[in-house]
Amino acid sequence: MADHYETLGVDRTASAEEIKKAYRRLARKNHPDQNPDDPKAEARFKEISQAYEVLSDAKKRKDYDRGGRPFAGAGQGFDPSQFGGFGDVFSNIFGGRGGRDGGPASPRRGRDLETEARIGFDTAVRGGEVRLTVSGSDVCDDCSGSGASKGTEPRSCSACNGSGVQSQGQGLFSISQPCGRCGGSGTVISDPCKSCGGTGARQRTRNMRVKIPAGVRDGSRIRLAGKGEAGVRGGGPGDLYVVTRVAPSPVFKRKGDNLEVEVPLTVAEALLGAKVEVPTLDGRTKLKVPAGTAHGTVQRLRDAGPPKLAGKGRGSLHYRFVVDVPSELTDSQREAAEALGKTLDVDPRAALFAAVGGS
Ligand SMILES: [Zn+2]
Ligand SMILES: [Zn+2]
Repeated sequence: MADHYETLGVDRTASAEEIKKAYRRLARKNHPDQNPDDPKAEARFKEISQAYEVLSDAKKRKDYDRGGRPFAGAGQGFDPSQFGGFGDVFSNIFGGRGGRDGGPASPRRGRDLETEARIGFDTAVRGGEVRLTVSGSDVCDDCSGSGASKGTEPRSCSACNGSGVQSQGQGLFSISQPCGRCGGSGTVISDPCKSCGGTGARQRTRNMRVKIPAGVRDGSRIRLAGKGEAGVRGGGPGDLYVVTRVAPSPVFKRKGDNLEVEVPLTVAEALLGAKVEVPTLDGRTKLKVPAGTAHGTVQRLRDAGPPKLAGKGRGSLHYRFVVDVPSELTDSQREAAEALGKTLDVDPRAALFAAVGGS
């Protein structure tokens, strides 16, 4: 054990007031509640407390200075009432027990889980149900989460009277620590459940059916409240997040809230206009293509798209016309094209050279 004076950072001649000051400063700084991420904080805090316990007591300090046995038995024969009032100072500093982290004896909410669901394009647009297997800890069936074997119950811990906390008198302060016997839960299990080993939770793979709302996209996150991991000591369950992975459709491409469909037109249809049949989400419909439709022109069918997830209404279907230029022509097609070409006697590229001043 380190030297108590060194632990508190004071001289061997330090006054009681100096020792108290040093202790309060160090205790505040090293309190485990203040250092939740530092696993060594608790040990440090204990050491500081023990040093103070000895050095703050005139008789123990004298014994210690004479090289006597360090006083290690924290809390023995200690009467907290004689230090009335100081506990309040500490609960103000540290937020008391059950503060930010809820303390070890408090119920803890189960963890959230996330899983992916691979769904077809139709299910994404129309909604549906998928089967999922989700792994995570869940309440043990055999003991309903109590951790005690069937027919028995956890008993109240006798060391802390079920509070989960042990108050140790250390110098001027009464320090509360998680009960060493029950680990802060306030209960002890004499006959642990064999299925879960007394933890009340079991790792389990659950098969479940999940409703997929109409209109989800690739990467949509569906929250299923309470379907995550089970809570501990009566804490509520976490949530399950299902991320949808949507198989692409060969026809309908997602563009924001809308779907786009490429509709090939023949050169003649683009020139002369036509009525063409196109697919919709429910079947098919006819579109009127005006004469002289340019490559890339888009026609919209409003509200014929998938439901919008956020807000109301539906997206649209966008039909993008692409002119299908044949790579080979028959003789009669070539003749027809040549005849057409002769009638198109305006140079479409004239404007290019007019603008740059070429000759
Ligand atoms: Zn206990
Ligand atoms: Zn169990």
